[in-house]
Amino acid sequence: MRVMYVASEATPFIKSGGLADVIGSLPKETAKKDVESIVVIPKYQDMKFVDQIEYVTNFDIYMGWRKRYCGIFKAEVDGVTFYFIDNEQYFGRPGLYGYDDDYERFAFFDFAVLELISHLNIKPDVLQLNDWQTAMIAMLYKERYCYYDYYQNIKLVFTIHNILYQGKADPHILEEFFALDSYLYYNGNCRNDGCLNMMKAAIFYSDVITTVSPTYAREILTDQYGEGLQSILEMRKHDLYGILNGVDYDVINPSKDQTIVKKYSPRSVKTGKLENKLALQRQVGLPEDSKVALIGIVTRLTEQKGLDLIINQFEAMCQRRVQIIILGSGDRMYEDALKGVAWEHKDKVSFQCKYDFVLSNRIYAGCDMFLMPSLFEPCGLSQMMSLKYGTIPIVRETGGLADSVQPYNEFEGTGTGFSFYNYNAHEMMDTIDYALHTFYDCPEAWDAMVQRAMAEKLDWDASAEQYIRLFASLL
Ligand code: ADP
Repeated sequence: MRVMYVASEATPFIKSGGLADVIGSLPKETAKKDVESIVVIPKYQDMKFVDQIEYVTNFDIYMGWRKRYCGIFKAEVDGVTFYFIDNEQYFGRPGLYGYDDDYERFAFFDFAVLELISHLNIKPDVLQLNDWQTAMIAMLYKERYCYYDYYQNIKLVFTIHNILYQGKADPHILEEFFALDSYLYYNGNCRNDGCLNMMKAAIFYSDVITTVSPTYAREILTDQYGEGLQSILEMRKHDLYGILNGVDYDVINPSKDQTIVKKYSPRSVKTGKLENKLALQRQVGLPEDSKVALIGIVTRLTEQKGLDLIINQFEAMCQRRVQIIILGSGDRMYEDALKGVAWEHKDKVSFQCKYDFVLSNRIYAGCDMFLMPSLFEPCGLSQMMSLKYGTIPIVRETGGLADSVQPYNEFEGTGTGFSFYNYNAHEMMDTIDYALHTFYDCPEAWDAMVQRAMAEKLDWDASAEQYIRLFASLL
């Protein structure tokens, strides 16, 4: 079986978010399991490891009246073949997205991927597409390419990483960039709310749709989480699957992490975490205190991450015997609010308003608890990281948080964290209080929970198996 994964980013070459981790890890894992795995991404200016990629060929792409140069580069990493689509005009600039011509850039990319298949004679059995940047490949394929002899019988899998970002565009670009007839817009296959909706098109045209956790797969069928695409998803719900993302324990692992002060394993977690905790308190300017419950938050500061609940209860949290470290940047409104409370509670709160990879690892290693009360969470990586580091997550039961954190049951001695259901600040506070009570008053139960959290196996092995079974079922 040959699977071609198409995405706008992939580690180790270029990353802006969780999508890059998935495309960096899943193909590596399927390759280990005897699936020929190919990844295609754009060749960005800011890409890492450019010295390891080599030129292969070039050809022209026709997008309506536009004729564009398309260069192809290649690299082999861990058994996976990466192809990079090169065009200076579209990708020779800083960053990944956020340009006025993003729809044109990714229309070019979508065409380039389909053309690459025949130019290099690498027809895949399955084309795996990710998010709006690659969504229109499904429509281009089913409305045009599948009628060419060479391209017949390719199966399409579309994966939704976050349904909030749909690729909503002016309808005229269907003809302008994709050279598709406008009746395809008016018949509704790609139309939503008066826009061309690329994600809707992919949901309509793909053979199966997946998303990154079983709970999120159920949630996006509802008005609350569907972001306007719940009806089309309802129509396709028998072809909709939720497969939980994994994490790469070669990288996310307190016994291998070079950035933390003291490496530790489940056996040495108590002493190891203590050393990391004191060093972390020193680093961020909090009083050194080995006994106090240290709560960490590492996040983009956006509504999605439950910042409204956190800010609403911040004063209440500060009344407890805790220290809180927040690492994150994002919406100005949340940054300002957090700066305010951190200034008022200097002895308890440290707000680090930046992106800092090293500090984030030190927070996962040094804290006792990790707070993540998301409004919605397709999968979530942070809670899986904190489990591996023995830092007990406190989460809202949504999406991947509900699928990866087992709620603590003090009677049965089970569970790996604390969770609450409603998006309600007081429910969150009650749950934090329960966690604090367990931490201070039941230390043995706490230690046992830390062991269960660290033993949790949320790597790519099982998830890749599920993807492979799904791909195979299409053929
Ligand atoms: P999302 O992809 O929605 O932002 P995830 O939980 O899936 O959320 O992944 C976020 C990742 O980014 C985690 O690895 C987290 O540690 C990291 N991260 C988020 N904010 C920061 C920051 N300010 N500094 C360092 N790492 C961060």
